[in-house]
Amino acid sequence: MARINDYTVTLFEPPCLPGSPRWSSIVTIDADLSDLLPYLNGYLKKRFYDPNTHTIVFKMNGHGVAVRPREIRIGNLIDRNDGEKVAREVIDFINEIDQRRDEITPDDTRKEPPKAIEIFKLLPKTNCKKCGQLTCMAFASALAKGDADMDECPELFEEKYRENREKIEALFMG
Ligand code: SF4
Repeated sequence: MARINDYTVTLFEPPCLPGSPRWSSIVTIDADLSDLLPYLNGYLKKRFYDPNTHTIVFKMNGHGVAVRPREIRIGNLIDRNDGEKVAREVIDFINEIDQRRDEITPDDTRKEPPKAIEIFKLLPKTNCKKCGQLTCMAFASALAKGDADMDECPELFEEKYRENREKIEALFMG
C-alpha cells in the first residue's frame, strides 16, 4: 500500500502580482512523513534538510519542492494543470522512496541551506515585486526556506544577471 493515497492540491498565484505566470502549490497529504524524511535525505544528493523543523528542500524537474511531515510545497508552476501534474509526480516519487526504504541508508543530519543574506547579495535588488514578494530580501528569505523557487524572479533571467543566477544556483548545490 502506498504511503500517500490521498491528497489535496491548493494552487495560488504570487500574492502581490495577480496574473503572474508563476504559480505555487501546497499539497496536503493523508500521511505523516516524519519518519520518511531521513530516507529522502539519505537518497537525495542535492537537498537541504533540517531535522528540527522536519523540512527537506530539493529540486525536481525544475521545481523547488519542500517536503514537511503533512504537506508539500511546490514552486515554479505554469498553471493549474501543471500544478496537478507536478503534484502527482512528487507524490509518486515520495511513494517510491517509501517502497525502497530497505535499499536506502537514512540520514538524519542537518544539511544547511544558504543564508538569505548570501542570496540577497546576488539578487537584482530592484524590489520590483514580480516574484510576488514585497522586497528582494523577502524573496531571498523565502528561497532559503524553500518557500520560493529561483525561477519566480524573472529579472534574474536577464542576460546581465546570468552570472548572479549561476552563483545562486551554486549556493544551492552546496
Ligand atoms: S522579482 Fe526579483 S528583483 Fe523583483 S522583487 Fe522579486 S527578487 Fe527582487
